[in-house]
Order: sequence, then structure tokens, then C-alpha cells
Amino acid sequence: MNVHNQNFLDAERWQGLAFFADWQKTTAGVAEVRDPATGALVASVGIGGPADIARAAAEAKAVQKAWAKTTGVERAKILNKAADLLEENGAELIPWIMRESGSIYPKAGIEIEHGALFIRHAATLATLPTGLMLPTMDERTNYAKRVPHGVVGVISPFNFPLVLSVRSIAAALAFGNTVVHKPDPRTPISGGIIIARIFEEAGLPKGVLQIVPGGADAGEAMCKDPNIAMISFTGSAGGGSKVAEVAGRHFKKVQLELGGKNSLIVLDDADLDIAASNSAWGAFLHQGQICMATGLILAQESIAEALTEKLVAKAQHLPVGDPSTNQVALGPIISDGQVANIQRLVDDAVAKGAKLLAGGTHDGRFYAATVLSGVTPDMLAFHEEVFGPVACITTFKTEEEAIELTNNSEYGLAAGVISANSARAMRIADELDVGMVHINDQTVNGGPFAPFGGPRKSGNGTRIGGPADIEEFTTWKWISVKDAATPYPF
Ligand code: NAD
Repeated sequence: MNVHNQNFLDAERWQGLAFFADWQKTTAGVAEVRDPATGALVASVGIGGPADIARAAAEAKAVQKAWAKTTGVERAKILNKAADLLEENGAELIPWIMRESGSIYPKAGIEIEHGALFIRHAATLATLPTGLMLPTMDERTNYAKRVPHGVVGVISPFNFPLVLSVRSIAAALAFGNTVVHKPDPRTPISGGIIIARIFEEAGLPKGVLQIVPGGADAGEAMCKDPNIAMISFTGSAGGGSKVAEVAGRHFKKVQLELGGKNSLIVLDDADLDIAASNSAWGAFLHQGQICMATGLILAQESIAEALTEKLVAKAQHLPVGDPSTNQVALGPIISDGQVANIQRLVDDAVAKGAKLLAGGTHDGRFYAATVLSGVTPDMLAFHEEVFGPVACITTFKTEEEAIELTNNSEYGLAAGVISANSARAMRIADELDVGMVHINDQTVNGGPFAPFGGPRKSGNGTRIGGPADIEEFTTWKWISVKDAATPYPF
């Protein structure tokens, strides 16, 4: 950790402002950022509206060709420097992430660690081979190369604000795109200001990265802006569907990374202490506010009762409260509206016959770790993303039934299978229609090296990370070369 600079973030520099070619005022004014645990003011930032997005997109467009002409080595150097700065200043930055997003210390630490890993991965992308020599139908030379789209618009959510912003931003920059980024207005510091500061200090040329916090109106303006070629969106299926509709009307490439209702299948030969621990982590980490959260625990009938008992015991002992005390496992839910939605889903399940075995109540924004058993397909909690700390247990008799329950979901992001017999688990994994399966692990797994994403309401066929990045953040350009022009029949 960098002990020399305890004021790396330097709030004086950006309070009330947004990051254009420099820190400047927006036309849409200033928004206060509040700690969801206490309501205390964290800071204020410049908030962007459509006019600010238009300005940022024009500025990003103006410098894109020059940025694309820099060498991959130069871009990699800046990216690696930004990753160094994130890691070196982690001790200062973690409390900002905790306060702004209601994260416990370890989760905020993961944001720093994974954020840096994503940036370093992007640095390796900058020096990948980008061309192919093609077969030819005549004497000419034919080749194709991967080129940047131009300006990429990034839109990110509140839950893992740093990682989910930087994974798109860094990959886009690596290939020579410039970026207009709109973090969620509830988490503009972790999802925006921190990223602006590391790239500013790393020597990224002015204008290449523009960060303008804003709401849906600013996001929609990005989807229409003539200077933006691609939208990389991470958020809800509802938001993603609107983004795809508007951006599609304006002929943009759209990458959608959306929600999940992820099954953890626990087979009858599983170690139940380990399975209960995996279930608790998958369902309760960051209050269940994770796209990959374990949304359904599918327990084979013969072990369901024992597994449930162990999970209930864990849930009853998980302390909930203000993360700044460092004494809690679960922090606050991001908003009162989200608390009400969790309660709606729990109440619906109980009214339709589910057993409430732990939690089910909240003290303001603090929702207790909750366990519901007997969750069936007629209940909303069976299908909908809860985005709260609610473990929903459903039983199954045969492996085929577990596969069918998983594949019937409207979402298809992630799944996990726990069994003492990994060959058995792998046979099941092969049948699951999801983008990511983890054998002998719960569903919350991410990182820069694997293609992340899933079908149906989880996305539009795109992936992010690992080998997917070159596909998503560049496009093909075909070049054919004749030594001299030749005549045609007319
Ligand atoms: P959200 O869709 O409400 O908001 C996400 C972002 O989109 C925010 O920046 C928001 O301002 C913006 N936005 C909302 N409506 C928009 C519109 N019409 N046009 C343009 N921009 C718009 O999502 P949320 O509730 O903040 O985040 C939680 C959701 O995100 C969950 O569904 C979760 O599963 C999903 N998520 C997915 C991933 C993934 O990688 N697949 C990761 C994290 C979260």
C-alpha cells in the first residue's frame, strides 16, 4: 500500500464536477452521494444530462483517431500504471467504496483486487495480434484486421460499481476506442471518480476517457448519440431491453450483461456442511445484490432437510449493520425501494406456502439473512431476481428434474453443482442452458480471464472478459490490395 500519498483521491479536485477532458461542471447540476447505511453525506459530484453526454461524446470522438494510433505498448503501459495506482492506493480507496455502496470490507477489497486484475488483463489485450491474411480469388493481397469501434459508451450498475465499470472501460481503451462512461448516480465515486483518478495519474491523454455520472436520461442520450458507436451495458434486464431498443434504432453495437436467477444444485452425495457454507456465501454476499447470486438452492430430496437446517443456523448468526464498524457480514440494501421489493417477494412466497425459517424482516435498510424453504414455481421468488439476502430452497427428486428447473428460468447467467462425484456433476453441467457453470462451487464467480455472460434475460449473446473482449470491443476491417488498378468490362 502507498503510505506516501494518503490523499490520492483528492476530493477537492472533483467535488461537484465530472470528468471531461478535465474536471468540469455539468449543465445538469450537482448530486449528493449518501451512505446507504447511515444516510450521511459522502460527497457531491457533477451529474450529467443529455447535453453533458453530447459534449463528452464529441470530445471523445475528437481524440479517438489519435488514441488508436498510439502503439499497443504505449496503451499497455498506461493501463498497467493505472492498475498499479489502484492497488497502491487500495487502503485509502476501500473505505470510500464501503461507505458509498454499503459494502463490507472484504467485498470492497475484492473490487480493488479484481479491478486491478481487469486492467492488467486489458493491458495484455493491447498487444494481441489483430490481423488475418485471407485466401484470395485473384492476384490481390487480402487481409482483415480488428479495429476499434470508435467511441464506446459504458453504462454500469451500483452493486459492484468499480469492477463492472472498469472491466468495460479498460478493454475498450486497450484496443484504441475512447470511452464515455456513465456510472450509476448512487455510486459515482467507486464507479467513476476512482477510475478517472487512476487514469488521470497514469497519464491517459486528455479526452480519451470521459466520466459523467447520471441517470436513465443520460444513459438514453448515450444510446442515441451519433458520436457513440457501441454501448456496453451492465444492469437489469428491464434497463437492458430499453437500451437495446433505443441503441438498435440508432444502429449501434450493443453488449448487454444483465441479471440472473442462478441455481445451486446440491446432490445427495454432497458434504452438507460445505454445501451450506456455499449456499450462504452465494445467497448472502453483498446482501444478495449480485447478478451471479445464488437465487435458487435446488436440494435433492433426501438431503434437503439436513441442508436447510445447517443453512438456517448460519443465517441466524450473520450480523447485519453498518459496514464501517467492521463487525458485520451483511451491510445495507442500496435503497428503500429495493427493500420494499425484497419484502414483496418474501411475503408473496410465504402467502403461497413457503416456510420462512430465518429473517424475513428488516430494520430500515438492514435486511436480515433470510431462508425460505418449499419455494415453488407459482411463487414470484422462484422466478424473479430478489437482489436481497434471501436463500430460496426448492427440492428435486431426479437429476433430470434439477436440470429442467434450471433450464426453465427466464435467466441463464450462472449455475453451480455440488457433489462428491465430479463426473456426475459435470454430466449435469453439460445439460444446463446457462453461460457459466461452477462444479463444486456456488454461483458467485467472476474475473478477467473467462468469458462472462449468459443467454435469455441475462444478455444478448455477447460476453465480457477473456477471449470475448477482442470480439466485443473491436470489429473487422477487410483490406484488399492490387498492385495496380485493372479495367472492367464497362
Ligand atoms: P439498472 O438497469 O436499473 O441500472 C443499471 C444502469 O443503467 C445504471 O447506470 C442506470 O442509471 C442505467 N439505466 C437504467 N435505465 C436506463 C435506460 N433506460 N437507458 C440507459 N441507461 C439506463 O440496474 P440496477 O438495478 O442498478 O442493477 C442491478 C441489476 O444489474 C440486476 O438485475 C443485476 O443482476 C444486474 N447486473 C448484471 C451484471 C452482469 O455482469 N451480468 C453485473 C451486475 C449487475
